[in-house]
Amino acid sequence: MVYGTSLVCNGFLDVADNYIMRSDTLLIPGPIELSDNVQKALDCPSLSHTGPEFTAIFQRVLQNCRKLFKAHETEGQPIVLAGSGTLGWDIAAANLIDPDEKVLVLSTGFFGDSFADCLELYGAKVDKLAAPMGEQVPLEEVEKALKRNRYKAITVTHVDTSTAVLTDVEAVAELAHRIAPDTLIIVDGVCSIGCEEFKFDEWGIDYCLTASQKAVGAPPGLSISMISSRALNQVAARPRSYFASLRKWIPIMQSYESGKGAYFATPAIQLINSLDVALKEILADSLESRWAKHRQTSDWLKDKLVNTLKLKLVTNSKQAAHGLTAVYVEEPGRLISYLKQNGVVIAGGIHKPIASKYVRIGHMGVSACREELHHITRCYDLISDELGRP
Ligand SMILES: *Cc1c(COP(=O)(O)O)cnc(C)c1O
Repeated sequence: MVYGTSLVCNGFLDVADNYIMRSDTLLIPGPIELSDNVQKALDCPSLSHTGPEFTAIFQRVLQNCRKLFKAHETEGQPIVLAGSGTLGWDIAAANLIDPDEKVLVLSTGFFGDSFADCLELYGAKVDKLAAPMGEQVPLEEVEKALKRNRYKAITVTHVDTSTAVLTDVEAVAELAHRIAPDTLIIVDGVCSIGCEEFKFDEWGIDYCLTASQKAVGAPPGLSISMISSRALNQVAARPRSYFASLRKWIPIMQSYESGKGAYFATPAIQLINSLDVALKEILADSLESRWAKHRQTSDWLKDKLVNTLKLKLVTNSKQAAHGLTAVYVEEPGRLISYLKQNGVVIAGGIHKPIASKYVRIGHMGVSACREELHHITRCYDLISDELGRP
């Protein structure tokens, strides 16, 4: 039996045998590889969810979430709930938009489209601006739409993980503040928070949602978000979700952040302990240097793929994300299985119009920030081998 305190990062437990195999090198755009200490923090005993030990952990997590979003000054509130990134869409739709209110959705791929679906399910009237393939929605179109209609909110996917398009959220927010100052600005930061420059306060964002398993570098299972005081004042009196009700959760989050346990529904103790370690690791360095490391790693890989292997990125390079790379290849299935046979896991395409034509390589968190980028270089070498084979 080899599990317990000797658990190695990347190990997983085969319950039937009590046997740990080392897993493959995981280079998909989430869930991402965990650092050793984040992995170990999952092995935390059951604690009372309102007791002093867990309360101290959750207090620190919420305080550190403010830093993660660069939301120190606002009277807004970080929110950490059991759930995945998707829950953030439900939170926004159920609490911030009343039925029949108009929302402008900027879509740069699968995730923008899905956010629009979620809003529509809750009864919002959605106007969707879909970007040309691999690009951002042109600002002139956003400007026209904001001038033509009054919107309760505008939503932006910071990085659409299906296309690796990075949207200039600062520019969109600046435009919205200028033309439609009452419109709430909602950002899907699931694939950007922790790896791309993001400034909640400075850019005047009202709600930003992310998840634990992408650039934050914790296990999947937590929805992490930040809401502004302006948006808090507009939370629906009758939210259309019980679990995702901010009326229920905000007092609970405020209580934990001030160091007192409180109960609405049981928090995910072990996951939050693991998130605590992930956030400490992110903040031990500055966020700025973490963003810079992701840029360097991303630039290195994209340069090799484009200039050495002569491949074409899905994104136009000025609008490319730094936590993943989406690249067209002739036979995605063949490439993915060759890498898998060699112990490296990358992802296929998910944006419908081009889904069978490209692959996605994730480089977020530890795999992108280590001194030695051996996982990324190995992945590149394997791609180069496979494409060179007859
Ligand atoms: C992964 C992702 C989501 C969905 O998050 P889940 O944790 O899978 O629910 C939403 N938006 C973006 C941009 C994502 O990358």
